[in-house]
Amino acid sequence: MPPSAPIKSRISGAFAESPFAKSGIPDRLGLGGFQSMAARYSIFSLIRNALAYHEDWPAAWRSPEPKPAYDVVIVGGGGHGLATAYYLAKELGVRNVAVIERGWLGGGNTGRNTTIVRSNYLWDESAALYEHAMKLWEGLSQDLNYNVMFSQRGVLSLAHSQHDLRAQSRQSNANRLGGIDSELLTPAQIKALVPVMDLRAGGRYPVLGGALQRRGGSARHDAVAWGYARGADALGVDIIQECPVTGFRIDNGRVQGVETAKGFIQAGKVGIAVAGHTSVMANLAGFRLPIISKPLQALVSEPVKPVLDTVIMSGAVHAYISQSDKGELVIGAGTDRYVGYGQRGSLPVSEDTLGAICELFPSFRRLRMMRLWGGIVDICPDASPIIGKTPVEGMYINCGWGTGGFKSTPGSGWVFAQTIAHDRPHDLNAPFSLDRFHTGYLIDEHGAAGVAH
Ligand SMILES: Cc1cc2nc3c(=O)[nH]c(=O)nc-3n(C[C@H](O)[C@H](O)[C@H](O)COP(=O)(O)OP(=O)(O)OC[C@H]3O[C@@H](n4cnc5c(N)ncnc54)[C@H](O)[C@@H]3O)c2cc1C
Repeated sequence: MPPSAPIKSRISGAFAESPFAKSGIPDRLGLGGFQSMAARYSIFSLIRNALAYHEDWPAAWRSPEPKPAYDVVIVGGGGHGLATAYYLAKELGVRNVAVIERGWLGGGNTGRNTTIVRSNYLWDESAALYEHAMKLWEGLSQDLNYNVMFSQRGVLSLAHSQHDLRAQSRQSNANRLGGIDSELLTPAQIKALVPVMDLRAGGRYPVLGGALQRRGGSARHDAVAWGYARGADALGVDIIQECPVTGFRIDNGRVQGVETAKGFIQAGKVGIAVAGHTSVMANLAGFRLPIISKPLQALVSEPVKPVLDTVIMSGAVHAYISQSDKGELVIGAGTDRYVGYGQRGSLPVSEDTLGAICELFPSFRRLRMMRLWGGIVDICPDASPIIGKTPVEGMYINCGWGTGGFKSTPGSGWVFAQTIAHDRPHDLNAPFSLDRFHTGYLIDEHGAAGVAH
């Protein structure tokens, strides 16, 4: 849920400034000597710090002043920007990198989303990209030595009509052919999996079946941002918070650096990962993108005992719901029908969603909602992202993830890092270049993406 105050670098537990970091113990994580085993989070560091009343945890990442120049500047300290910096440093040895964030880490959509992770998209290009992300999710807590609470509790998409059933069957078959797990469930199987749901044929939203991806689930969104920040910082990346980028210096079609609230920062290359504000950045750089930005809403209930251990999505009624580890029901609604930058969204959208949730889960009618918020999502005409080069040499964009980019965070950062380092897209993101809006090779994921996640 959106944090209420800027996250400073003192998140519980860390290693960056730890005396153990200099202990010379072998770097078993392959993090280039920045992270020693003794400085890792572990049961032993927990016990040691518990004995010190948890007062001696060092900062999870530094808060340096920006240097005059970097090889790469990443604009946007959300999950995608931080993951990009981490993989640039870890996999490609590019460590003279800064992430410039106008607010606080994860304060954009990364900290506002409903945390659903799955990889069952329709087209081969998307499925390959999201499945790459899924494989990274499966080892992410170990890779980062940070518990991102990835929970593969299954994601079930409901079919409310014969048309939904046929579309799900097509998508499920496509997934299985591509090696991605997918099962079509009957109403009886769904009732056994989610006893609290009302499937009655006479109800307003009868459930005729559903598609289940058992490897799908959820993760703790802030932990993803913090884990990548900590990992990137340990590899030498500078993370600069509360520093908006206000412009770009471009000479002869090539980017020279970024103008920021803390002055000009020279950059060999600039990667932009600012989600709903991408068209604003493109405007500053002098090119246009086929993107619209809209608020997308979510809300949480008061916490209750465990009642729902699967993520339920309904694209048809624009509602999706899961239960967090704290017991709150996390509910996702739709986007506003018009373009906007207000991070709250309009009330009729959440009212519609709650109406649908109450029909599907009658016992939830008695719950009180605790918080409602919005995030600005960036939507492409084909509901697929853009990850690649821009008309400005040395400038790259990663955007257009719309309502569903949290699940792709590790994969998106990984391919974006490759693209920036090699100045050309990786095979996995080559189909997602800006060029497709000229060539017409669109990747229409409206069915699989839509507002559902
Ligand atoms: C309510 C809601 C529910 C969602 N649910 C899901 C879900 O269940 N599953 C899923 O897969 N996806 C979901 N999404 C989508 C997902 O959250 C996003 O696609 C994803 O988090 C985008 O990550 P990001 O790092 O690109 O963007 P962000 O996390 O938004 O990061 C971009 C950062 O750029 C910064 N920035 C902007 N302008 C500037 C500037 N001028 N200078 C410097 N920094 C700047 C912002 O402050 C921000 O921190 C949801 C989104 C919302 C809003």
